[in-house]
Amino acid sequence: MPIDATLPYDDGNIFARILRGEIPSRRVYEDEWAVAFHDIAPQAPVHILVIPRGRYVSWDDFSAQASAEEIAGFVRAVGTVAREQGLVAPGYRLLGNVGPDAGQEVPHLHVHLFGGAALGRMIA
Ligand code: 5GP
Repeated sequence: MPIDATLPYDDGNIFARILRGEIPSRRVYEDEWAVAFHDIAPQAPVHILVIPRGRYVSWDDFSAQASAEEIAGFVRAVGTVAREQGLVAPGYRLLGNVGPDAGQEVPHLHVHLFGGAALGRMIA
């Protein structure tokens, strides 16, 4: 069910629970600012979700509220995961869904990292 990305942060959302270790995930990376884990329903041979540790729903929320250090840490984590997964030479795709029109289902900011195969051209 797509969510309204303008609603206040919900501490009960599934990624908040993954961050707190209340439910399991296959983590591939974590640091002070971000955590990355395999998507439970992969849409590509490699499908990883990278999330900030902070309580943000959307990119506009994140860019307006987060500190420069937090933003840099999250963006760096995305690149580090891509590198550590060996995706830089073959290539990869980043995707961010925000709000109902994009079909965002989990109200915690996340970037999808796809790779491991030729992904084809995609506009939407
Ligand atoms: P969205 O549509 O919000 O951009 O993507 C949410 C993603 O989270 C989906 O690709 C979905 O498969 C994934 N997801 C939902 N619940 C869980 C979960 O409990 N664990 C993991 N690892 N991924 C999840």
